[in-house]
Amino acid sequence: MSAIKISGSAKGTQLDVKRLYLPFKIEADCPVCGTGSGADMNTDYLSYPTVGSEESVSMFCVKCDEFFSVKVVLGLTLEAAP
Ligand SMILES: [Zn+2]
Repeated sequence: MSAIKISGSAKGTQLDVKRLYLPFKIEADCPVCGTGSGADMNTDYLSYPTVGSEESVSMFCVKCDEFFSVKVVLGLTLEAAP
């Protein structure tokens, strides 16, 4: 059996996914008052994300009554199954 070789990179690829839900939780402090906030990517989502590029996730500060955003980067790898 020959080895499986996978080459290439997904960086810069825009995923044709309107709503990409992911099993991650993000926690961040409000940049104004420092109150902790969070986003659950099981219910919040990335819309048509580009692999390797900054994406914004909105969070809401209950103390300031304002939204703020944090930047995340979506990585994507493809591996041969063991
Ligand atoms: Zn705040």
